[in-house]
Amino acid sequence: MRRDPRYRFLINDNPVRLEVHDLDNEKYGPFECQINEIRKLRYLVSTQESNLVAWLSENSSYDACAYCLSQYNTG
Ligand SMILES: [Zn+2]
Repeated sequence: MRRDPRYRFLINDNPVRLEVHDLDNEKYGPFECQINEIRKLRYLVSTQESNLVAWLSENSSYDACAYCLSQYNTG
C-alpha cells in the first residue's frame, strides 16, 4: 500500500538490506516486505516499471525485493 499516492517504489537504504519494494504489491507476512520497519522513506521519483529496471541496473548494490518484486530479484 502506498504511503504517499505519488510514490510507488520504496528504496531501503539499510546497508544490511539494500533493496527496492513495490508498494502496489506489498506483502504483509512476518518475513516479507516489512515496510513499517524501514526508518527512512526514500522513493523512486518514477512509478514506471521500466524506470525501476533502469535504476536497478545503475545501482547494482541494490536488489529488487524477493516478495513484491520477485520477477526482478536476483537473490
Ligand atoms: Zn517488498
